Amino acid sequence: MSNPLLDTSSLPRFADIAPEHVVPALEHLIATQRSKLVDLLATATEPDFDSLVAPLEDMEHELSRVWSPVSHLQGVLGSREWRDAYNEALPILTEYGTELSQNAHLQQAYASVDSALPDDAPEARRSAVAQALRDFRLAGVDLPDEDKSRFKEIMQTLAATQADFDHNIQDASDAWTLHFDQIENLAGLPAQTLERAAAEAARCDRDGWLLTLDFPTYHAVMTHADNRSLRETLYHAWVTRASDQSANVQWDNSGNIDKILALRHEAANLVGFQNYAGYSLATKMAETPDQVVDFLRELAAHSRAAAAAELDELRELGGMAIEPWDLGYCLEKLKQEKFSLSNEALRQYFPVATVIDGLFDLASNLYGVTFKRDDSVITWHDDARFYSVRDSSGDEIGGFYTDLFARSGKRTGAWVDDCINRKNLNGHATLPVGYLVCNFAPPDETGRSLLTHDDVVTVFHEFGHMLHHLLTRIDYPSIAGINGVPWDAVELPSQFMENFAWSFEVLERCSGHAKTGEPLPRDLFGRLEDSRHAGAALAMMRQIELALFDIRLHAEYQPSVDMSVLQILDEVRAEVSLLQHPGYNRLPHGFSHIFAGGYAAGYYSYKWAEVLAADAYAAFEEAGIFDAETAQRFRHEILEIGGSRDFMQAYVDFRGRKPEIDALLRQSGIVAE
Ligand SMILES: [Zn+2]
Repeated sequence: MSNPLLDTSSLPRFADIAPEHVVPALEHLIATQRSKLVDLLATATEPDFDSLVAPLEDMEHELSRVWSPVSHLQGVLGSREWRDAYNEALPILTEYGTELSQNAHLQQAYASVDSALPDDAPEARRSAVAQALRDFRLAGVDLPDEDKSRFKEIMQTLAATQADFDHNIQDASDAWTLHFDQIENLAGLPAQTLERAAAEAARCDRDGWLLTLDFPTYHAVMTHADNRSLRETLYHAWVTRASDQSANVQWDNSGNIDKILALRHEAANLVGFQNYAGYSLATKMAETPDQVVDFLRELAAHSRAAAAAELDELRELGGMAIEPWDLGYCLEKLKQEKFSLSNEALRQYFPVATVIDGLFDLASNLYGVTFKRDDSVITWHDDARFYSVRDSSGDEIGGFYTDLFARSGKRTGAWVDDCINRKNLNGHATLPVGYLVCNFAPPDETGRSLLTHDDVVTVFHEFGHMLHHLLTRIDYPSIAGINGVPWDAVELPSQFMENFAWSFEVLERCSGHAKTGEPLPRDLFGRLEDSRHAGAALAMMRQIELALFDIRLHAEYQPSVDMSVLQILDEVRAEVSLLQHPGYNRLPHGFSHIFAGGYAAGYYSYKWAEVLAADAYAAFEEAGIFDAETAQRFRHEILEIGGSRDFMQAYVDFRGRKPEIDALLRQSGIVAE
């Protein structure tokens, strides 16, 4: 095979894969799969799991193997050629995906497999079939023709309206600037923010500093600017973006919000749900909108008093009433005065190599797995490494690449993605391989890269996702590792790992001063730990406010009632917000997560998974954080199962009971330890 992307006999051939291979590889593979599918459906008169589902799983696996390096390389290399290739290929892939999800014959074949499954069929087989059938239903494949075409139309309009929602925010933000001649007005801002503002002014042929409305600038001003009216100005600009309250109403998202809510409701009704919240929860661990509302209200009831006390402390410190544009600033001042924590001093203890070694030690300690760097594996960049992973028995169980440092063109943030999913079908097996990508400060001239504690938490988080991907025992790729796991449980393994980055025993092993090699001192750790709780209850209430607004909005929508989005927001704020929001605040108009992203009727997932993660970690604290038996149980009941089991039942099997919120409240300093 001359196209290296189609060579899936081993790891991706990163040295040979080039952007021009993408479209031909995809077109070839999809054409082959289309004819395979026709043959499969034609010959399968009485399809069973092995004759229908296994080959389809195999096809999905092959497609994801070919696509994975493409999506990865456009993210980590970010060259124009890779982006163009990716953008050209994405619609081809999307169209094929839609074609499969809309294939009624395929759905009927799955339904026959389902009814033919023997009573003693393994749970994983049942789940793979059940999830496929569920997804067919959610895609509207079994609707009468008229409804089916309406459903498709809604989905297309929704996609366009959601994109427009995002573009409005982007355009409204881009159009906003604020110019300064006098640096005194910008007192308190970090050097990095000032440099960017000066460069922005120069770019526009002006002197001085030009502030823009991107998130890093907004966040820096809200956290550090001493000038209170500057903070208020930025706050006003931020919370009125793309709304009727902005000076530029051409980007007003009000119409988009109404349209998106109406379309979602109609689509949900078409496929048999009372509202969009029900539709969204069909793929999640939470069962009903009421359950989510109760969950959020319970968290709020426990956190309110602590949040009020935090606000009082800030009021005292600032000597004034706290307005929304004072919160971040006063909190930062409190942290500096109370804990005298210097990020710079902390960083000296966390050279990246020491942190990674400590992290590998921790995983070995918990699960008996070992990691070996393998420099013979060809990667896409000098910064990238490959590690092979073995079980305590010495058997290889998978591998992963790391690419830890920021560089130009690379997508920002940190993430884990699959390169190869675990598979064991009809005698053919592959081991899981993943990518772990971060954007840490690159090594200095001496070759040393030092991490902040936030960075340490980030790499622990991502490593949690990686272990979830690597430790799976599921044979069917669609439900192996992270695949097929309910959305509100996906962050359990990652947030669970974060907890270890707040343990002195672990940090001691993950640290070594850049000059002296001395591990993190106990008193510095103590201050770090105290600072973890600063503002935690206020942050909790803020997340509850957003989540409650989101779930109520999607559960209570009624087409015949002229419902005001802002009215629901007011009710939610009256219930859970401790700060008074000004009348011009238009939170919904900039709330991309729920109106443009994938978090519609799902924003609660952040808190939901956090509760699970804290409660799971508490089991380790109760038994000793390196307790082998607890770790084994967590591995077996949670990390190995992929999407093969009912997740709540799996959690109960691990914990011996349903999750409780107490551990998260303790961890956030909201109730006493
Ligand atoms: Zn995550």
